[in-house]
Parts: sequence; C-alpha cells; structure tokens
Amino acid sequence: MKTILVLFLLVSITLSAPLLFTKAFAQTAIDGFSAERATAERRWEEQFRAIPDPKSAREHLRRLTIEPHIAGTKEDYNTAVYVRDQLRSYGLSADLKEYEVWLNYPNAPTVLELITTRRQPLSVKEAPVPGDPSSSHPKISPLFNGYSASGDVTGPVVYANYGLPNDYEDLKKAGVDVKGKIVIVRYGNSFRGVKAKVAEQNGAIGCIIYSDPEDDGYMQGDVFPKGPWRPVASGQRGSVQFLFDYPGDPLTPGKPAIAGTPRLKPEEATDLTRIPVQPIAYDVARTILSQLKGPLRPRGFQGGLPFAYHVGGTNDVKLRLKTDMDYKLRTIWNVVARIDGNEEKDRWVVLGNHRDAWVFGAVDPNSGSSAMLEVGHGFGELLKQGWKPRRTIILCSWDAEEYGLIGSTEWAEEMADELRQKAVAYLNLDAAVSGPHFGASSVPSLWKLMRGATRDIKDPKTGKSVYQQWQDRSRENRPEGDQDMREARIASLGSGSDYTPFLQHLGIASTDMGFNGDYGVYHSAYDSFYWMDHFGDPGFTYHVAAAQLWGTLAMRLADADGLPFDYTDYAHQIREFFTEAMRLARIRNLASSLDDKAMTSAVDDFAREAERVEKDRQEAVRKGDRAELTKINDALVQAERQFIDAKGLRGRAWYKHQIYAPGIYTGYAAQPLTDFRQAIDDRNSANAKEALERIVDSIKRVTRTLKSAADKTD
Ligand SMILES: [Zn+2]
Repeated sequence: MKTILVLFLLVSITLSAPLLFTKAFAQTAIDGFSAERATAERRWEEQFRAIPDPKSAREHLRRLTIEPHIAGTKEDYNTAVYVRDQLRSYGLSADLKEYEVWLNYPNAPTVLELITTRRQPLSVKEAPVPGDPSSSHPKISPLFNGYSASGDVTGPVVYANYGLPNDYEDLKKAGVDVKGKIVIVRYGNSFRGVKAKVAEQNGAIGCIIYSDPEDDGYMQGDVFPKGPWRPVASGQRGSVQFLFDYPGDPLTPGKPAIAGTPRLKPEEATDLTRIPVQPIAYDVARTILSQLKGPLRPRGFQGGLPFAYHVGGTNDVKLRLKTDMDYKLRTIWNVVARIDGNEEKDRWVVLGNHRDAWVFGAVDPNSGSSAMLEVGHGFGELLKQGWKPRRTIILCSWDAEEYGLIGSTEWAEEMADELRQKAVAYLNLDAAVSGPHFGASSVPSLWKLMRGATRDIKDPKTGKSVYQQWQDRSRENRPEGDQDMREARIASLGSGSDYTPFLQHLGIASTDMGFNGDYGVYHSAYDSFYWMDHFGDPGFTYHVAAAQLWGTLAMRLADADGLPFDYTDYAHQIREFFTEAMRLARIRNLASSLDDKAMTSAVDDFAREAERVEKDRQEAVRKGDRAELTKINDALVQAERQFIDAKGLRGRAWYKHQIYAPGIYTGYAAQPLTDFRQAIDDRNSANAKEALERIVDSIKRVTRTLKSAADKTD
C-alpha cells in the first residue's frame, strides 16, 4: 500500500536561513562531516552512486514481478529467496525472518448479483488486456479485500460517495438511511479501512468499493494499455483493516507474532470489520449505479460515469453480496540484511521496503524492492573496496505490508527494546517509481538531510538535480498568493506504509519518498512489468535515481561525525501545526478553555534548545571532539523517542507519538497533534485540554533530552 501523494506539496517557509554556502563550497561540504571527512565521504558516495544500474534494476523488477505474490503464498516465498540470494551475492549477510500471522484469501470468487425485476450476476474479476502478457496469468486473484468478513447479505443499495462521515450526513439530509442496506462507495479521499468502518458504524450490512473513472480512470487520461490510467474492467484490491486502531497482525497487537505470544481470538480483534467488503471495477459499478433511483445525488457525489448519479435506497434495486474468506494463521517472510558498523555497531540505520503485492506489484512495491537490491549492490561493492561504515546499516524487505504493515510491525514489536536504544533513523521506500516527480515525507529533524541529499542526485530527465526538479515543479504548482515559497514542502508522515511502527509506535525518526507520476493501475493486475516498461519508467533510470538517493541518505546517517538532525525545523513545524489547530479551536469556540501559553512557552524553549544543540553540533564536528559528538548524537537520536507517550493516543494505545499519527478518519493522511486535533473536531474541550497537556509534556521531555547533551559529565 502506499499513500497516493497529494501533488500540492507547497509551503511558505519564511523561517529558513539564508543560503550560507557558496556553490563551490556546497559541493564539498556535507552536513555532519568535518571538511576533511566530507572529502572522503563524497568520494565513497560517488563510488556508491556509480553502481546502481538501469539494466540490473530492470532485471530485478522483471524477476520479482513474474508471478502474483500475495503475502504468505509460495510465490511470495520465492521473491523472499530471490531478494536474500541477491543480497548475499553482493556480499551482504542476509536471512529470512518468519512470523505466523492471520491472513485471508478468497475461498471462491465473491458472488455479486444485482436484483431488480431479474437477477443479474456481476463480475469480480479483472479482464486480460491485449498487449500486456501478464494480464492473463492464471494466478491473478479475483478482486477481494484483505480482512473482509465472510458473509451472505442481500439488501437495497445506497450510493454513499466516498463513504466518509460527512457523506452519511448528506444522505441523512436527503432522507436516506443505510441501516440494513448495502452501500456502494468510491475509492479516494481516505483509506479504504475507514470506509468499511464508517459503513459498519452507520448500520450497513455490506460495503462495495469501486474505482470511479473520475478519480483514476478515463477522466484523468488514456486508460491502459493505451495510457497509464485504470481501464474499465479494473478494480482496486487492498486491506480494510482498521489501520488507525493498530497495524500488524490482528491477533497480536503490540506483540510479535511468534511462538509463545498469546493470541486474541479473531472475534476479539478490534481492527477487523464484521461486514463483507468487496472491490469492483467501474464497468460493474456502472451497471449498479445506473439502476439507482431515490434522490438525485447531493453536491459532491457525482463521479465520472456518464449519467446523473442517484443515491438509491429503494426496495426495487437490491444487491446480493456473498464473500467466502479462507482465514488462517499463515507464515510470512521478511528478509533482513546487515552491515555491521565499524565504530558504532550499536547504532542502526534501518532501510525498509515491502515486497508482497496484491498482484504483480511492479510499482507498488517492487520498484522499491528493485531499488533496495541496487542499494545492496552498491554497498557490497563499497565494502569490497574497503568502505567501513561507522554505524550499522540494516536492509529490510518486509512481507504482508499490504494486509496492514504486518512484516514491519511484527519485527519492530519483536525488536522494540533494541530499536529504542539503537535505531538512529528508519528510511522507508514503498512505491519508489511511478513517474518522474519526486515527493517526500519525513520528520522535520531530517528535512535538511533530505534536501541536501536530493541536491547530489541527478534527475534523469532534466539533467538538473532531483532537488532542482522538485523545486521547479513545486513553484509551478504553488497556490496563488504564495509568493514567498522558498523550498518544496516535505509532507507529514501519516500511515499507509512501513514507517508507521518505527515512528508512531517507537519514536524513531523516519522518512518516506518516491518518484511519482500518472498512475491509475494501483492494486490491480495491470500494475505490471509491462506497465512500468511502457509508462512508469521505460529506461529504469528513476529506479537508479531512487537507489542513489536512498543509499546516499543511509551513508550520511551511517558515516556522519555529528548526526545531521536539526530540531529547529521540528520546533517551527510544531508551532505551525499549533497555530492551525488553534485557528480551528477558535472557530469552534473552544479556544478560551485551552492553555495556549503553556504550549507556546514549551515550543519556545524547544526552539531555543534546538538552536543551541545545532550550534554545539557544528562546533564539535569542526573540532572533531569525539566525546562531545557522542553525547550530542545520543541526545539527537533519543529526542525523537520523547514524543512517545507510553499511554498512547486516546482509545488506540498502540499509537504513541504525540505529534504524528494518522487521524481516525483521515486514513493515510497525518493528523498532526493528533489527539488535540481530534478533540477539536469532536468539539470536546475536556479532551482537547488533556491532549494538549500531554503534547506539552512530550515537548518538554524532548527539550530536556536535547539539554542533556550540554550537561558536563566530566
Ligand atoms: Zn506498497
């Protein structure tokens, strides 16, 4: 799975410092390295960046996408072995790591019937497409949702737009109740698990999710195989786990799914829906929606099918939905490879990408897996040439991400104590390439690292740096009136990929990124090697750029004398989040009961301390003061951990980060200052007050940790 990145990644950064370096200097200086060490680092990095190769990346992708490889299948296991053996062939130590987790496959294709004056069976399969040879592969699964319940339900159909709370409000206003009925909703605007949850909460007995051509089909452009967009007979598979409650194996929340861990009964798991949920293609949706009567669509409900949508709900148009799921404990396989650090073995830089796919997964996720193998390729070569990374680097190929970030979550839960002590950062790459446009999300302390590294990677298409391409495009897309935008925005981490357990459960600084483009075949049988070879990255040069960038980020974190974390950006970002939240609180008449002074003063202290540590770090790097650097580095790494509140978020204790988490209804998107924002949305001033106090406490802990770097121990 993967966030569909919002294209308007813009912000006006008025606080960024003026450019300090001349161009010539900027080419040799690397943040966190003394002048002398930067020269050596740059040489190693250049040697590294020369290794990733388009032919080799193409071959990895071809091999990984030969067969559908859903988590827990023999074909998935084959991809794990391929990744392990490739990494070993590059000279890295790599091993499989297994977990037993609760997964479903369809026992038989879903039965879907439209019942009007007659019964009309509807397809839940994707049709082969002429030209793409893999689209007729016999092992392509019928359309289904991960963690749908089994069931056999019949009822009137209601069209509920995106299936979010305000859509049900609109239906109520139109006099349509969904209780005892089957809702049909379109993909988009939130994670599909949210749609299942909200349908269930509103009393629906079944939920159909379809891909409207307005969102990723012909309204966007030519459809596959003529273009990159979704063809009529294509649907979107995907998990409907309640990811916002907790990710990972549904039966072992907070614990690793290994022998000896007590398991919940499936009916005790709070992150599973109890109703059948089924995805369909838009030709099938057309058959259903075109029959609906009842009120004409409310504002915002019309999609791209060529008739006026009605919301239905009448007794003369019904659906029968019968899902039959085979649920079992199944084995999944992570691959973990490790390069031991030469001087700080117990400081880990962790890179992760998932490998399992709903079908072939050429973009999602295997463009990232191919990039990971090329990173391994590059590191293997450097090691042969005598490179000794200061800190340990761990490469992880996750399994069962598509069902709910399972491989990464189980590993993070198993390794929790060690990770809390040792992890420097987690660098995620999911769908690495679907086009040429770079986008990134990260904690603010790593913004400068991200921007710095993108300056050193060449954009294959324009020949400029990736940074420049990213800037140019952001400026083109900037909203009117935003004249003082200085840098492309790095977005907030919400959920929908494997950084979630690292950042939001354990408090490990994390990043996510990718090269994006026109991509309408998400989670379908057409996200194939053919699609990538014709539309996504025909020369495989962006796979190479992704590997170069990912490896460069890892090398800087692994080799730096003074870790390139800058918390001043974090303080500014929290201040912006708070200003925005207070604006909403005022609109809702909640502001008077909130102690904004305590928050403002906590953020001021944080900003001041962050600035001081940053100065000390620069100076210690210059002086090469090793004892001082160790103290500063430890504080910088541990500071992120202090955003973790052991109690967790309200009603969902697995999520513990006080600044970043997905909102309950936002799905993939982050809802910064999560509990505070939720309480404001709920107009609950007592909860808002309590949430803000916890946020203030966490900021104070961060500040204290940064201060500890200045304490004289000698
Ligand atoms: Zn993915």
